Amino acid sequence: MMNILSFIQPAQHVALLTHQSPDGDAMGSSLAMYHYIKSLGKEARVIVPNAFPDFLAWMPGADTVLLYDNQKEQADIYLDAADLVICTDFNAPNRIGALGDKMLTLTCPKVMIDHHLHPSDFADFIVSVPEASSTCELVYDILSTFVQRSRSFERMRDKNFQLSTPIAQCLYTGLMTDTGNFSYNSNRPQIYPMIASLIEAGVDKDAIYNAVFNQYSVDRIKLVGYCLYQKMRVFPEHHAALIYLNRKELYRFNFQKGDAEGIVNMPLQSKDIHYSVFMREDKTTPDEMEKNGGIKTKIKLSFRSQGDRPVNVFASEVFNGGGHANAAGGEYYGPLAEAVQLFLDNYAKYFKA
Ligand code: 5GP
Ligand code: MN
Repeated sequence: MMNILSFIQPAQHVALLTHQSPDGDAMGSSLAMYHYIKSLGKEARVIVPNAFPDFLAWMPGADTVLLYDNQKEQADIYLDAADLVICTDFNAPNRIGALGDKMLTLTCPKVMIDHHLHPSDFADFIVSVPEASSTCELVYDILSTFVQRSRSFERMRDKNFQLSTPIAQCLYTGLMTDTGNFSYNSNRPQIYPMIASLIEAGVDKDAIYNAVFNQYSVDRIKLVGYCLYQKMRVFPEHHAALIYLNRKELYRFNFQKGDAEGIVNMPLQSKDIHYSVFMREDKTTPDEMEKNGGIKTKIKLSFRSQGDRPVNVFASEVFNGGGHANAAGGEYYGPLAEAVQLFLDNYAKYFKA
């Protein structure tokens, strides 16, 4: 029977790829696999399309990660020599931009571990579990099964298996961030014994919470105040809120990567808001500009909702994106005003009154 182990066993030079604007689950799942593969005495390297936020820089192994947008040459050398590619936390090559184009030219085997709906079939072996809270949950399952398999070759969980502290810290980070510190997508009972074993493996969960969620600059806190007080538009009939920021506003608050994180969730704290959308104006990369007829601005969109109100269909049909039912994203190449108009023209079709 094929499994991930049968791909890892013969490999010596493994490239681990994760999605654009890596989040805690992307970094956690790829770095956990990185530490595991290194522990087997093999070469491993995490390569990400672009920078991860500063609040993830403490993660064990983060200092070894290659950024494809400014370390392309070094990354290409590594990729050309890879004999296995492991993709975590994304479901299609277009989610990793130019890195995806490069990956598709590689002839070595490719494995995907992910929890997004509708995986594309670019990989030779796919672990796709959309019900999972996070890709880190799946990596935990895989690694805990491995430890057992490598001992007895039976597909049963080893009650005594021990993860290293760095692996446990990486996995906890993804579980925590993809569930909003266990406040959504977090009803699968099996994740709680997992958390207990991660703590036993050396995770200080309070310290990780602090390292990830309490690291903002004062500018960012003021940006949040500005968004909520001055910029939130409410659509009461549809229980929806929209916040959008242009580049001038971002500049005013000395915007740094990661500063927008979490703002989209805030309107949902109101009992009257069930849908929230956040847009921010960004620059296109040279590669994106080339693919989009020289357009200089890209609008990044985040969608959030509660309960039985999927937002991923809106994200995918109108904003070329996708994601989970209650947490999705998308992008629009063009002026911010056009993206806002597109939202205004369409939200009533996708949001329940
Ligand atoms: P966020 O709002 O945190 O950027 O993204 C929320 C979710 O939507 C994530 O699970 C992410 O994978 C997905 N997502 C974000 N941006 C895009 C996009 O441009 N395309 C697709 N297909 N999914 C996205
Ligand atoms: Mn994820």
